[in-house]
Amino acid sequence: MKTVLVTGGAGFIGSNFVKYMLDKHKDYKIVNLDLLTYAGNLENLTDIEDNPNYEFVKGDIADRSFIKDLFQKHHFDLVVNFAAESHVDRSIENPEIFVQTNVMGTQVLLDAAKNLWQTGKDENGYPTYREGVKYLQVSTDEVYGALGKTGMFTETTPIQPNSPYSSSKAGADLLVRAYGNTFKFPMNITRCSNNYGPYQFPEKLIPLMISNVVELKNLPIYGDGMQIRDWLHVKDHCSGIDTVLHKGRVGEVYNIGGNNEKANIEIVDLIIANVKEKLSNDQYNGIDTDASKISDDLKIHVEDRLGHDRRYAIDNTKITTELGWSPSYTFEQGIVETIDWYLNNQDWLKQVKSGGYQEYYEKMYSKK
Ligand code: NAD
Repeated sequence: MKTVLVTGGAGFIGSNFVKYMLDKHKDYKIVNLDLLTYAGNLENLTDIEDNPNYEFVKGDIADRSFIKDLFQKHHFDLVVNFAAESHVDRSIENPEIFVQTNVMGTQVLLDAAKNLWQTGKDENGYPTYREGVKYLQVSTDEVYGALGKTGMFTETTPIQPNSPYSSSKAGADLLVRAYGNTFKFPMNITRCSNNYGPYQFPEKLIPLMISNVVELKNLPIYGDGMQIRDWLHVKDHCSGIDTVLHKGRVGEVYNIGGNNEKANIEIVDLIIANVKEKLSNDQYNGIDTDASKISDDLKIHVEDRLGHDRRYAIDNTKITTELGWSPSYTFEQGIVETIDWYLNNQDWLKQVKSGGYQEYYEKMYSKK
């Protein structure tokens, strides 16, 4: 039985990953460590909270003595670090917490894992480690910066992050890389494109737009809406991470992407049309929106995000050819299922949108 530490497992991707792992590896124990910031939500995990192979621990990845004790207690075999401040807009408002969590927190985890796993030293003075252990850093394609109209990010593309968020993720990646090089620490880094799917906090494009269409609220679109992102279903991201965790060559970086480049405005148009169609034809608990009022007129163009990257695209050749991974969702199938999920989970949406969310939303979009 392996014991796996998943940090940030109450967030969007982490909660999907915890469930994926419990389902796929029935002989693994999963410990989910999460600080439960505004983005962490135990409601994402109610269906597995009684699973005997699952344990939740509340705490901060940057709290060194707490993390040391946690590693001593559980003797983790695998560590997958999702915990992060993850929203670019918030990093422009308040960069400091991004450095604290994303950079400092990663360094604390690296030290704790290195100390727990080190068994001795080899003849050249490098640390040696317990068999079967690995640290995986979940990173983003945003560390590569922005692309022009053509080209794709490969694992050897220079790191040129443009936002406080992406630079804090890049800082963390570089520390992980340095531990791999300096201490021969058993690690991988995965860099994934934009995720979509169930349980995403509604400050991000897709759940925000679905939620606003249902409420007949304006749909705020940054600038001309022609920013291009590559989109991957969250379950495909989970299977990609699992693949790298078990089959990835130690010390390597793997890009994970879906070959689904879409402009933001295309996604908004698709959501408007699909929600309108669904609400015209079907009943959803808790939704009494007049579907005839859903139209393109809900779209409003707001001032563009500062330093907004124009285009990201991922070359996923390495993970597909070397490790045999491929995405299972087409975007067309995944987005329709995702819209359905949000329409069917209005209580979840209302719960996460209570409290601080409303205040944040007003601040971001009323000033434009
Ligand atoms: P999220 O914001 O939904 O979740 C982050 C989680 O981390 C939350 O549950 C939060 O409570 C927790 N957390 C924050 N600070 C913490 C701390 N100090 N200690 C412990 N827990 C803490 O983010 P997400 O979208 O699920 O992203 C997860 C990871 O994947 C991040 O590292 C992000 O950079 C990366 N990533 C995200 C995407 C995407 O499209 N969402 C794409 C590529 C990579």
